[in-house]
Amino acid sequence: MSNSLILEAITRCIRDLNCSGHSPATSTNYSFRDEEGKCWVTRSGIDKSFINPTDFIEIDREGKVLPPYEHMTPSAETGIHCALYELFPNTQVVLHSHELYAVVLTQNLSEVHFEGYELQKAFPGVDTHQDKLTIPVIANSQDMKAIRNELIARKNALKYQVFMIEKHGFYTWAETLFEAKKLLEAFSYLCRAEWLIKQ
Ligand SMILES: [Zn+2]
Repeated sequence: MSNSLILEAITRCIRDLNCSGHSPATSTNYSFRDEEGKCWVTRSGIDKSFINPTDFIEIDREGKVLPPYEHMTPSAETGIHCALYELFPNTQVVLHSHELYAVVLTQNLSEVHFEGYELQKAFPGVDTHQDKLTIPVIANSQDMKAIRNELIARKNALKYQVFMIEKHGFYTWAETLFEAKKLLEAFSYLCRAEWLIKQ
């Protein structure tokens, strides 16, 4: 897929996610790697209902903005994207959600469990609803190094390609936009179901 087609597809996806409440008040951030391996991340402070392909800027592996985009500010959470590409080199797309149910589920927890839901089968390696999914919750921080270190320390717990940040939201990642979006939608659904069942 050419760069312009990927940009068009991911931009449309982000607008759709915004309509479903995943990115209120300019929140969330997104990235992808193009055919040449270049990494593109959303710039800071965009209303996601109006996002355009020109809102993606190129960064290096450490998250430094590359020319000619130096005058633009990348998302404050760019370090999380870099950490995911570093930990899982096959990753091509990283998506983020501030889904309200995911936010409230994580309070005072270091992991969240899901069991018995049919939609668990959307996740890699899960063949039956009877499996127990344990998803890590990482402490919220503005310090991207702290989040990166926790992701590295808990790498084995990231096998479902999703992690949560306490009272913040969650990230999904995959080799295609289709797969990353599927994981995001499935996980959002699981969080809503789990919260409602607990009430
Ligand atoms: Zn966020």
